Amino acid sequence: MQDSFNKRKEKILEFNTALEELNLRKRYETTIPKEIPDDLIVKCPKCTKFILKDNYILDHKVCPYCNHHGRLTAKERLIDLMDMGYTFLFSNVKENYLDFPEYEDKLNKAKKDTDADESVLCVKGKIDGINVLVGVMDSFFMMGSMGSVCGERITRLIEKAEKEKLPLILFTCSGGARMQEGVISLFQMAKTSQALARFKKSGLYIAVLTDPTTGGVSASFASLADITIAEPNALIGFAGKRVIEKTIKETLPKEFQTAEFLLEKGYIDMISDRKDLKKNLSTILRLHNYK
Ligand SMILES: [Zn+2]
Repeated sequence: MQDSFNKRKEKILEFNTALEELNLRKRYETTIPKEIPDDLIVKCPKCTKFILKDNYILDHKVCPYCNHHGRLTAKERLIDLMDMGYTFLFSNVKENYLDFPEYEDKLNKAKKDTDADESVLCVKGKIDGINVLVGVMDSFFMMGSMGSVCGERITRLIEKAEKEKLPLILFTCSGGARMQEGVISLFQMAKTSQALARFKKSGLYIAVLTDPTTGGVSASFASLADITIAEPNALIGFAGKRVIEKTIKETLPKEFQTAEFLLEKGYIDMISDRKDLKKNLSTILRLHNYK
């Protein structure tokens, strides 16, 4: 173990200089040159600069050059956010109600790709020592689509928060309702919203909108928080920009549906860089007397 760690470190040092040179020359390069092993570097999807993979992960998958916040899987988010020792909830909720063609295969592939068993993972644990219930959606799991299992887990999490008088935090990222489940997926919007209406009479709900939060999720629990935080430059909206432009036959502003635009319009309360998110969440929780 130690040996392979040292070998990786040596390799990184060897390529660090090469990488810096490469980024200087970047405007002439479009692909990773053969001399640099691609398991050591990643390419920023926004500014396309090369970043050492280890540094990228240490920086919470944020690009050091342009502050682009890369997408995290639900499990990566939990590791990044939670204190050690959280427990997963509602893992037994995994019914598939409909026999839609190839749905089962797609679910199995998503499970393999993400190491998650659905598009939302729910946990009970602590953030900076404060007890919380957290639900994290995974955009890599069938585009974070909301089906019956996702809706049921989120509803149960809300009800648990109400019962145990704990604060609720939901990290949203979703392409919308899961089309394979048809109208059942749309039911989840009403179900989660009703549970939230009850919970919010006594408890605190914080939503953290991450890239992308769209469709049925944005039109239900993502928009119903007491405090709404977003990550920088996250895409947040209901229908896609092109669909709206074609419908209303008007050109929309360039920054339309970005976190920054929505902050200006008062739809969200704050934008938090990922590196400050844990601290910001625990500050808000303490201000509301949660321990
Ligand atoms: Zn970048």
